[in-house]
Amino acid sequence: MMSEETCIFCKIIKGEIPSKKIYEDDEILAFNDINPTAPIHFLVIPKKHIPDLIEARLEDVPLLGKLVFYARCLAAEQGCGEKGFRLVINCKSHGGQTVDHLHLHIIGGRQLSWPPG
Ligand code: 5GP
Ligand code: ZN
Repeated sequence: MMSEETCIFCKIIKGEIPSKKIYEDDEILAFNDINPTAPIHFLVIPKKHIPDLIEARLEDVPLLGKLVFYARCLAAEQGCGEKGFRLVINCKSHGGQTVDHLHLHIIGGRQLSWPPG
């Protein structure tokens, strides 16, 4: 289990690991994925260390809503508002989550297949 101290995304928030930031405010951060799977692939994360979606609490609902709404705004800004994009939250090992800090993937810029596998 990754703690807040060793969490890669907390280190990105603190600036200890460099990233290509595309948006930041006091609650959320968006940055390009280091290993993009499509021409547009960025992550939107809360600054609060929530390990995964199962760990989110009722008190986090406004933050979760903000993450989704900003994902939509940034997706449009990055050029996939018209043709669309995919919003993904992997949760724990069966969901394919590899970084234990809640994050939304925004993937677009090409036709994506479904189901993802
Ligand atoms: P997950 O598999 O947990 O849903 O997604 C984690 C994502 O974080 C992966 O797409 C991976 O490429 C990305 N990632 C992992 N480490 C780093 C990093 O240090 N910087 C950035 N920008 N992305 C990272
Ligand atoms: Zn973290």
